[in-house]
Amino acid sequence: MAFQQNSRGGRPNQGRPQGGGRSFGGNRSGGGRPGGGRRGGGNRGPAKKFIHPSKFINKAVAKADEIPYASKHKFADFPFGAQLHHNVASKGYETPSAIQDQAIPHIIEGKDVIGLANTGTGKTAAFLLPIIERQSGITLRPSVLIMAPTRELAQQIDEQFRVFARGLDLYSTLVVGGVNIDRQIRDLKRRPHFIIGTPGRLKDLMRRNVLQLKNMTTLVLDEADRMLDMGFLPDIREIVNEMPKERQTLFFSATITPEIQALVNTFLTDPETVSVRTSETSEHVEQDVIEARDKMHKVELLEDLLKQDAYDKVLIFGETKFGVQRLSDHLDNVGIPSAAIHGNKNQSQRQRALKQFKDNRVKVLVATDVAARGLDIPNVSHVINFDTPQTYEDYTHRIGRTGRGGARGHAHTFIEQR
Ligand code: AMP
Repeated sequence: MAFQQNSRGGRPNQGRPQGGGRSFGGNRSGGGRPGGGRRGGGNRGPAKKFIHPSKFINKAVAKADEIPYASKHKFADFPFGAQLHHNVASKGYETPSAIQDQAIPHIIEGKDVIGLANTGTGKTAAFLLPIIERQSGITLRPSVLIMAPTRELAQQIDEQFRVFARGLDLYSTLVVGGVNIDRQIRDLKRRPHFIIGTPGRLKDLMRRNVLQLKNMTTLVLDEADRMLDMGFLPDIREIVNEMPKERQTLFFSATITPEIQALVNTFLTDPETVSVRTSETSEHVEQDVIEARDKMHKVELLEDLLKQDAYDKVLIFGETKFGVQRLSDHLDNVGIPSAAIHGNKNQSQRQRALKQFKDNRVKVLVATDVAARGLDIPNVSHVINFDTPQTYEDYTHRIGRTGRGGARGHAHTFIEQR
Protein backbone atom coordinates (compact mmCIF):
# COMPACT_ATOMS: atom_id res chain seq x y z
CA MET A 1 0.00 0.00 0.00
CA ALA A 2 1.44 3.40 -0.96
CA PHE A 3 0.81 6.04 1.69
CA GLN A 4 3.37 8.52 0.46
CA GLN A 5 2.75 11.14 -2.18
CA ASN A 6 5.41 12.65 -4.38
CA SER A 7 5.81 16.04 -5.96
CA ARG A 8 5.59 16.52 -9.66
CA GLY A 9 5.41 19.52 -11.93
CA GLY A 10 2.24 20.18 -13.90
CA ARG A 11 2.10 19.72 -17.65
CA PRO A 12 -0.44 21.57 -19.77
CA ASN A 13 -3.23 19.44 -21.09
CA GLN A 14 -6.21 19.92 -23.37
CA GLY A 15 -9.40 21.29 -21.90
CA ARG A 16 -12.55 19.67 -23.09
CA PRO A 17 -15.31 22.16 -23.81
CA GLN A 18 -18.56 20.54 -24.83
CA GLY A 19 -22.18 20.39 -23.70
CA GLY A 20 -25.74 21.54 -24.28
CA GLY A 21 -27.95 24.12 -22.59
CA ARG A 22 -30.01 23.56 -19.49
CA SER A 23 -30.68 25.95 -16.67
CA PHE A 24 -29.19 25.84 -13.21
CA GLY A 25 -31.50 27.08 -10.51
CA GLY A 26 -32.09 30.33 -12.34
CA ASN A 27 -28.88 32.01 -11.13
CA ARG A 28 -26.74 33.30 -13.94
CA SER A 29 -24.08 35.14 -12.00
CA GLY A 30 -21.08 33.57 -13.73
CA GLY A 31 -18.07 35.18 -12.08
CA GLY A 32 -14.91 33.60 -10.74
CA ARG A 33 -12.15 33.18 -13.28
CA PRO A 34 -9.50 30.76 -12.12
CA GLY A 35 -7.92 32.45 -9.17
CA GLY A 36 -10.21 35.46 -9.53
CA GLY A 37 -11.93 37.38 -6.74
CA ARG A 38 -14.17 35.88 -4.11
CA ARG A 39 -17.82 35.35 -4.71
CA GLY A 40 -20.47 36.53 -2.30
CA GLY A 41 -21.61 34.37 0.60
CA GLY A 42 -18.17 32.81 1.12
CA ASN A 43 -17.48 31.03 4.36
CA ARG A 44 -13.72 31.50 4.43
CA GLY A 45 -11.56 34.42 5.40
CA PRO A 46 -8.59 35.13 3.12
CA ALA A 47 -8.95 36.34 -0.47
CA LYS A 48 -8.54 33.78 -3.21
CA LYS A 49 -5.01 33.44 -4.54
CA PHE A 50 -4.25 33.09 -8.23
CA ILE A 51 -3.26 29.56 -9.14
CA HIS A 52 -2.04 28.99 -12.67
CA PRO A 53 -4.27 26.38 -14.35
CA SER A 54 -1.22 24.35 -15.39
CA LYS A 55 -0.88 23.44 -11.72
CA PHE A 56 -4.16 21.56 -11.99
CA ILE A 57 -2.72 19.20 -14.60
CA ASN A 58 -0.73 16.08 -13.98
CA LYS A 59 -0.36 12.81 -15.81
CA ALA A 60 -0.64 10.09 -13.17
CA VAL A 61 2.35 7.89 -12.69
CA ALA A 62 1.65 4.23 -13.31
CA LYS A 63 1.33 2.33 -10.07
CA ALA A 64 4.25 0.09 -10.97
CA ASP A 65 6.54 3.17 -11.03
CA GLU A 66 5.82 4.04 -7.43
CA ILE A 67 8.34 3.07 -4.85
CA PRO A 68 6.44 1.84 -1.81
CA TYR A 69 7.62 3.07 1.55
CA ALA A 70 10.04 0.60 3.11
CA SER A 71 8.96 0.46 6.73
CA LYS A 72 11.80 -0.06 9.22
CA HIS A 73 9.46 -1.68 11.73
CA LYS A 74 6.84 -4.34 11.66
CA PHE A 75 3.84 -3.87 13.95
CA ALA A 76 5.23 -6.82 15.93
CA ASP A 77 8.32 -4.72 16.73
CA PHE A 78 6.26 -2.15 18.64
CA PRO A 79 5.99 -2.84 22.38
CA PHE A 80 2.21 -3.18 22.41
CA GLY A 81 0.26 -5.60 24.59
CA ALA A 82 -1.16 -8.76 23.00
CA GLN A 83 -4.72 -7.41 22.81
CA LEU A 84 -3.61 -4.21 21.06
CA HIS A 85 -1.56 -6.23 18.57
CA HIS A 86 -4.62 -8.37 18.01
CA ASN A 87 -6.82 -5.30 17.42
CA VAL A 88 -4.35 -3.86 14.88
CA ALA A 89 -4.28 -7.15 13.00
CA SER A 90 -8.05 -7.47 13.04
CA LYS A 91 -8.31 -4.00 11.49
CA GLY A 92 -6.30 -5.46 8.62
CA TYR A 93 -3.11 -3.43 9.06
CA GLU A 94 -0.07 -5.48 8.06
CA THR A 95 2.77 -2.98 7.72
CA PRO A 96 3.16 0.39 9.41
CA SER A 97 2.78 3.42 7.14
CA ALA A 98 5.63 5.95 7.04
CA ILE A 99 4.18 8.18 9.75
CA GLN A 100 3.42 5.16 11.95
CA ASP A 101 6.87 3.71 11.38
CA GLN A 102 8.60 6.92 12.36
CA ALA A 103 6.32 8.43 15.00
CA ILE A 104 5.26 5.43 17.09
CA PRO A 105 8.75 4.76 18.59
CA HIS A 106 8.98 8.38 19.86
CA ILE A 107 5.41 8.50 21.15
CA ILE A 108 5.73 5.21 22.99
CA GLU A 109 8.81 6.66 24.75
CA GLY A 110 6.69 9.56 25.95
CA LYS A 111 8.23 12.25 23.77
CA ASP A 112 6.43 15.24 22.30
CA VAL A 113 6.08 14.82 18.55
CA ILE A 114 5.37 17.13 15.62
CA GLY A 115 3.94 15.02 12.81
CA LEU A 116 3.93 16.67 9.40
CA ALA A 117 1.47 14.52 7.56
CA ASN A 118 -1.55 14.87 5.34
CA THR A 119 -4.77 12.99 5.74
CA GLY A 120 -4.58 9.53 4.24
CA THR A 121 -1.12 8.81 5.59
CA GLY A 122 -2.35 6.72 8.52
CA LYS A 123 -1.69 9.46 11.07
CA THR A 124 -4.69 8.57 13.21
CA ALA A 125 -3.31 5.15 14.11
CA ALA A 126 0.15 6.72 14.42
CA PHE A 127 -1.01 8.59 17.50
CA LEU A 128 -3.83 6.38 18.77
CA LEU A 129 -1.90 3.12 19.03
CA PRO A 130 1.01 4.29 21.19
CA ILE A 131 -1.25 6.44 23.38
CA ILE A 132 -3.60 3.53 23.95
CA GLU A 133 -0.62 1.42 24.96
CA ARG A 134 0.63 4.11 27.33
CA GLN A 135 -2.78 4.44 28.96
CA SER A 136 -3.00 0.88 30.19
CA GLY A 137 -2.86 0.89 33.97
CA ILE A 138 -3.57 4.63 34.32
CA THR A 139 -6.16 5.17 37.02
CA LEU A 140 -6.72 8.94 36.95
CA ARG A 141 -9.20 9.81 34.28
CA PRO A 142 -9.84 11.44 31.88
CA SER A 143 -6.23 11.44 30.77
CA VAL A 144 -6.15 11.98 27.01
CA LEU A 145 -7.58 14.95 25.10
CA ILE A 146 -7.71 14.83 21.31
CA MET A 147 -8.75 17.98 19.43
CA ALA A 148 -9.67 17.97 15.75
CA PRO A 149 -11.04 20.71 13.48
CA THR A 150 -14.30 19.13 12.35
CA ARG A 151 -17.01 17.02 13.88
CA GLU A 152 -16.57 14.39 11.20
CA LEU A 153 -12.85 14.07 11.76
CA ALA A 154 -13.36 13.82 15.52
CA GLN A 155 -15.93 11.13 14.92
CA GLN A 156 -13.61 9.17 12.67
CA ILE A 157 -10.89 9.31 15.31
CA ASP A 158 -13.39 8.04 17.87
CA GLU A 159 -14.47 5.21 15.56
CA GLN A 160 -10.84 4.13 15.10
CA PHE A 161 -10.28 4.44 18.84
CA ARG A 162 -13.12 2.06 19.54
CA VAL A 163 -11.65 -0.58 17.23
CA PHE A 164 -8.12 -0.27 18.62
CA ALA A 165 -9.24 -0.13 22.27
CA ARG A 166 -11.48 -3.18 22.04
CA GLY A 167 -11.08 -5.44 25.10
CA LEU A 168 -8.76 -2.99 26.84
CA ASP A 169 -11.19 -1.37 29.30
CA LEU A 170 -10.52 2.07 27.88
CA TYR A 171 -13.41 4.37 27.05
CA SER A 172 -13.91 7.54 25.07
CA THR A 173 -16.44 10.32 24.74
CA LEU A 174 -17.00 12.29 21.60
CA VAL A 175 -17.57 15.98 22.32
CA VAL A 176 -18.60 17.93 19.24
CA GLY A 177 -20.94 20.77 18.46
CA GLY A 178 -24.27 20.47 16.71
CA VAL A 179 -25.53 17.66 18.92
CA ASN A 180 -27.26 17.65 22.28
CA ILE A 181 -24.92 18.78 25.02
CA ASP A 182 -26.76 17.10 27.92
CA ARG A 183 -25.85 13.64 26.72
CA GLN A 184 -22.21 14.71 26.46
CA ILE A 185 -22.36 16.10 29.99
CA ARG A 186 -23.72 12.76 31.22
CA ASP A 187 -21.01 10.88 29.33
CA LEU A 188 -18.25 13.10 30.69
CA LYS A 189 -19.43 12.53 34.25
CA ARG A 190 -18.60 8.85 33.79
CA ARG A 191 -14.97 9.94 33.37
CA PRO A 192 -13.87 8.33 30.10
CA HIS A 193 -10.14 7.87 29.50
CA PHE A 194 -10.17 9.61 26.13
CA ILE A 195 -12.03 12.79 25.22
CA ILE A 196 -12.16 13.46 21.51
CA GLY A 197 -13.70 16.67 20.27
CA THR A 198 -13.76 19.97 18.47
CA PRO A 199 -12.43 23.10 20.22
CA GLY A 200 -15.69 25.08 20.41
CA ARG A 201 -17.70 22.45 22.25
CA LEU A 202 -14.75 21.46 24.43
CA LYS A 203 -14.39 25.05 25.56
CA ASP A 204 -18.10 25.28 26.25
CA LEU A 205 -17.96 22.18 28.46
CA MET A 206 -14.84 23.40 30.18
CA ARG A 207 -16.54 26.68 31.08
CA ARG A 208 -19.45 24.73 32.52
CA ASN A 209 -16.93 22.87 34.70
CA VAL A 210 -17.93 19.53 33.24
CA LEU A 211 -14.69 18.95 31.41
CA GLN A 212 -11.95 18.27 33.95
CA LEU A 213 -8.50 18.75 32.54
CA LYS A 214 -6.31 18.58 35.63
CA ASN A 215 -5.41 14.87 35.31
CA MET A 216 -4.66 14.97 31.61
CA THR A 217 -1.40 13.32 30.66
CA THR A 218 -1.71 13.57 26.91
CA LEU A 219 -2.84 16.16 24.38
CA VAL A 220 -3.23 15.54 20.65
CA LEU A 221 -3.85 18.40 18.23
CA ASP A 222 -4.85 16.88 14.91
CA GLU A 223 -4.81 18.96 11.73
CA ALA A 224 -3.61 21.95 13.73
CA ASP A 225 -3.17 24.08 10.61
CA ARG A 226 -6.81 23.57 9.75
CA MET A 227 -7.93 24.41 13.28
CA LEU A 228 -6.05 27.69 12.99
CA ASP A 229 -7.58 28.39 9.57
CA MET A 230 -10.99 27.91 11.11
CA GLY A 231 -10.28 30.44 13.85
CA PHE A 232 -10.05 28.01 16.76
CA LEU A 233 -6.79 29.39 18.13
CA PRO A 234 -8.33 31.31 21.08
CA ASP A 235 -10.41 28.26 22.09
CA ILE A 236 -7.38 25.98 21.84
CA ARG A 237 -5.28 28.30 23.96
CA GLU A 238 -7.97 28.57 26.59
CA ILE A 239 -8.28 24.79 26.80
CA VAL A 240 -4.56 24.03 26.78
CA ASN A 241 -3.94 26.64 29.49
CA GLU A 242 -6.09 24.53 31.82
CA MET A 243 -4.02 21.40 31.22
CA PRO A 244 -1.02 20.41 33.33
CA LYS A 245 2.29 21.66 31.92
CA GLU A 246 3.74 18.21 32.51
CA ARG A 247 2.14 16.26 29.73
CA GLN A 248 2.86 14.62 26.41
CA THR A 249 1.79 16.70 23.41
CA LEU A 250 1.41 15.39 19.87
CA PHE A 251 0.91 17.93 17.17
CA PHE A 252 -0.16 17.02 13.64
CA SER A 253 -0.26 19.44 10.76
CA ALA A 254 0.14 19.31 6.99
CA THR A 255 2.01 22.61 6.99
CA ILE A 256 4.32 24.61 9.22
CA THR A 257 3.65 28.34 8.96
CA PRO A 258 5.17 30.93 11.32
CA GLU A 259 1.90 30.93 13.24
CA ILE A 260 2.01 27.15 13.59
CA GLN A 261 5.64 27.30 14.65
CA ALA A 262 4.74 29.80 17.38
CA LEU A 263 2.10 27.41 18.65
CA VAL A 264 4.55 24.51 18.61
CA ASN A 265 6.98 26.60 20.64
CA THR A 266 4.42 27.31 23.36
CA PHE A 267 2.69 23.92 23.53
CA LEU A 268 5.48 21.39 23.02
CA THR A 269 8.64 20.58 24.96
CA ASP A 270 11.74 19.39 23.15
CA PRO A 271 9.72 17.74 20.38
CA GLU A 272 10.80 15.21 17.78
CA THR A 273 9.70 16.08 14.26
CA VAL A 274 8.52 13.41 11.86
CA SER A 275 7.76 14.46 8.31
CA VAL A 276 6.14 12.31 5.69
CA ARG A 277 4.92 15.30 3.77
CA THR A 278 6.75 14.90 0.49
CA SER A 279 4.10 16.06 -1.86
CA GLU A 280 2.77 19.11 -3.58
CA THR A 281 0.44 17.06 -5.69
CA SER A 282 -0.48 13.40 -5.71
CA GLU A 283 1.53 11.50 -8.27
CA HIS A 284 -1.07 8.84 -8.70
CA VAL A 285 -3.91 11.28 -9.29
CA GLU A 286 -4.59 11.96 -12.94
CA GLN A 287 -5.33 15.69 -13.01
CA ASP A 288 -6.70 17.88 -15.74
CA VAL A 289 -8.67 21.05 -16.31
CA ILE A 290 -11.98 21.44 -18.06
CA GLU A 291 -12.67 24.76 -19.66
CA ALA A 292 -16.14 26.20 -19.51
CA ARG A 293 -17.63 29.38 -20.89
CA ASP A 294 -19.45 30.29 -17.70
CA LYS A 295 -21.15 28.79 -14.71
CA MET A 296 -24.11 27.41 -16.66
CA HIS A 297 -21.72 25.68 -18.98
CA LYS A 298 -19.85 24.18 -16.05
CA VAL A 299 -23.07 22.64 -14.83
CA GLU A 300 -23.79 21.16 -18.25
CA LEU A 301 -20.31 19.71 -18.53
CA LEU A 302 -20.60 18.34 -15.03
CA GLU A 303 -23.85 16.58 -15.83
CA ASP A 304 -22.26 15.01 -18.92
CA LEU A 305 -19.41 13.66 -16.84
CA LEU A 306 -21.61 12.33 -14.06
CA LYS A 307 -23.69 10.34 -16.50
CA GLN A 308 -20.66 8.24 -17.40
CA ASP A 309 -20.32 4.89 -15.61
CA ALA A 310 -16.67 5.46 -14.68
CA TYR A 311 -17.80 8.33 -12.43
CA ASP A 312 -19.06 6.03 -9.74
CA LYS A 313 -18.02 7.85 -6.56
CA VAL A 314 -17.53 11.54 -7.13
CA LEU A 315 -16.63 14.23 -4.64
CA ILE A 316 -17.40 17.72 -5.92
CA PHE A 317 -15.99 20.83 -4.26
CA GLY A 318 -17.77 24.15 -4.28
CA GLU A 319 -16.75 27.39 -2.70
CA THR A 320 -19.75 28.46 -0.68
CA LYS A 321 -22.29 26.72 1.52
CA PHE A 322 -25.07 28.17 -0.57
CA GLY A 323 -23.50 27.19 -3.91
CA VAL A 324 -22.85 23.65 -2.71
CA GLN A 325 -26.46 23.16 -1.62
CA ARG A 326 -27.75 24.66 -4.85
CA LEU A 327 -25.58 22.41 -6.99
CA SER A 328 -26.63 19.34 -5.04
CA ASP A 329 -30.33 20.27 -5.38
CA HIS A 330 -29.86 20.83 -9.07
CA LEU A 331 -28.22 17.43 -9.59
CA ASP A 332 -31.11 15.80 -7.74
CA ASN A 333 -33.53 17.62 -10.04
CA VAL A 334 -31.85 16.33 -13.17
CA GLY A 335 -31.83 12.73 -11.93
CA ILE A 336 -28.33 12.50 -10.46
CA PRO A 337 -28.93 11.79 -6.77
CA SER A 338 -26.42 13.57 -4.57
CA ALA A 339 -25.75 14.51 -0.98
CA ALA A 340 -24.23 17.74 0.31
CA ILE A 341 -22.13 18.66 3.31
CA HIS A 342 -21.40 22.19 4.39
CA GLY A 343 -21.46 24.38 7.44
CA ASN A 344 -25.16 25.22 7.22
CA LYS A 345 -26.12 21.61 7.92
CA ASN A 346 -26.41 20.35 11.43
CA GLN A 347 -24.43 17.41 12.69
CA SER A 348 -26.99 14.68 12.01
CA GLN A 349 -27.68 16.04 8.50
CA ARG A 350 -23.98 15.98 7.72
CA GLN A 351 -23.62 12.48 9.08
CA ARG A 352 -26.55 11.27 7.05
CA ALA A 353 -25.10 12.79 3.88
CA LEU A 354 -21.70 11.28 4.49
CA LYS A 355 -23.17 7.87 5.19
CA GLN A 356 -25.28 7.93 2.03
CA PHE A 357 -22.13 8.60 0.03
CA LYS A 358 -19.98 6.08 1.88
CA ASP A 359 -22.64 3.37 1.50
CA ASN A 360 -22.96 4.11 -2.25
CA ARG A 361 -26.59 5.17 -1.94
CA VAL A 362 -25.68 8.36 -3.81
CA LYS A 363 -22.71 8.50 -6.14
CA VAL A 364 -22.13 12.22 -5.73
CA LEU A 365 -21.18 14.22 -2.65
CA VAL A 366 -20.95 18.00 -2.98
CA ALA A 367 -18.91 19.69 -0.26
CA THR A 368 -17.14 22.80 0.91
CA ASP A 369 -13.46 22.53 1.81
CA VAL A 370 -14.07 22.92 5.50
CA ALA A 371 -16.80 20.29 5.69
CA ALA A 372 -14.75 17.75 3.74
CA ARG A 373 -11.50 18.26 5.59
CA GLY A 374 -10.03 15.10 7.02
CA LEU A 375 -12.87 12.83 6.03
CA ASP A 376 -11.86 9.27 5.34
CA ILE A 377 -13.95 8.20 2.38
CA PRO A 378 -12.55 5.12 0.65
CA ASN A 379 -12.63 4.60 -3.13
CA VAL A 380 -13.49 8.07 -4.38
CA SER A 381 -13.17 7.65 -8.16
CA HIS A 382 -13.12 11.35 -9.06
CA VAL A 383 -12.66 14.68 -7.36
CA ILE A 384 -14.19 17.55 -9.29
CA ASN A 385 -13.31 21.13 -8.44
CA PHE A 386 -16.48 22.83 -9.56
CA ASP A 387 -15.09 26.05 -8.11
CA THR A 388 -11.34 26.56 -8.09
CA PRO A 389 -9.84 26.30 -4.60
CA GLN A 390 -8.73 29.29 -2.55
CA THR A 391 -5.14 28.13 -2.37
CA TYR A 392 -2.95 25.46 -3.89
CA GLU A 393 -2.77 23.88 -0.46
CA ASP A 394 -6.56 23.48 -0.53
CA TYR A 395 -6.21 21.98 -3.99
CA THR A 396 -3.86 19.24 -2.82
CA HIS A 397 -6.11 18.53 0.14
CA ARG A 398 -9.09 18.23 -2.16
CA ILE A 399 -7.49 15.89 -4.66
CA GLY A 400 -6.00 13.86 -1.83
CA ARG A 401 -9.51 12.44 -1.36
CA THR A 402 -9.04 10.28 -4.46
CA GLY A 403 -6.21 7.92 -5.36
CA ARG A 404 -5.82 6.83 -1.75
CA GLY A 405 -4.08 3.71 -0.56
CA GLY A 406 -2.19 3.42 -3.85
CA ALA A 407 -5.32 3.37 -6.04
CA ARG A 408 -5.36 5.49 -9.20
CA GLY A 409 -7.48 8.60 -8.80
CA HIS A 410 -8.80 11.34 -11.08
CA ALA A 411 -9.25 15.05 -10.50
CA HIS A 412 -10.84 17.62 -12.80
CA THR A 413 -10.76 21.34 -12.20
CA PHE A 414 -13.22 23.59 -13.95
CA ILE A 415 -11.82 26.84 -15.21
CA GLU A 416 -13.82 29.55 -16.87
CA GLN A 417 -12.58 30.95 -20.17
CA ARG A 418 -11.58 34.58 -20.27
P1 AMP B 1 -5.68 8.44 8.20
O1 AMP B 1 -4.55 9.15 7.53
O2 AMP B 1 -5.38 8.16 9.65
O3 AMP B 1 -6.99 9.10 7.99
O4 AMP B 1 -5.78 6.96 7.54
C1 AMP B 1 -6.13 6.78 6.20
C2 AMP B 1 -6.64 5.37 5.93
O5 AMP B 1 -5.57 4.43 5.93
C3 AMP B 1 -7.66 4.87 6.93
O6 AMP B 1 -8.69 4.20 6.22
C4 AMP B 1 -6.89 3.87 7.77
O7 AMP B 1 -7.71 2.87 8.32
C5 AMP B 1 -5.91 3.32 6.76
N1 AMP B 1 -4.65 2.86 7.38
C6 AMP B 1 -3.93 3.51 8.31
N2 AMP B 1 -2.81 2.82 8.64
C7 AMP B 1 -2.82 1.70 7.90
C8 AMP B 1 -1.91 0.57 7.79
N3 AMP B 1 -0.79 0.49 8.49
N4 AMP B 1 -2.25 -0.40 6.91
C9 AMP B 1 -3.39 -0.31 6.18
N5 AMP B 1 -4.27 0.72 6.24
C10 AMP B 1 -4.00 1.71 7.09
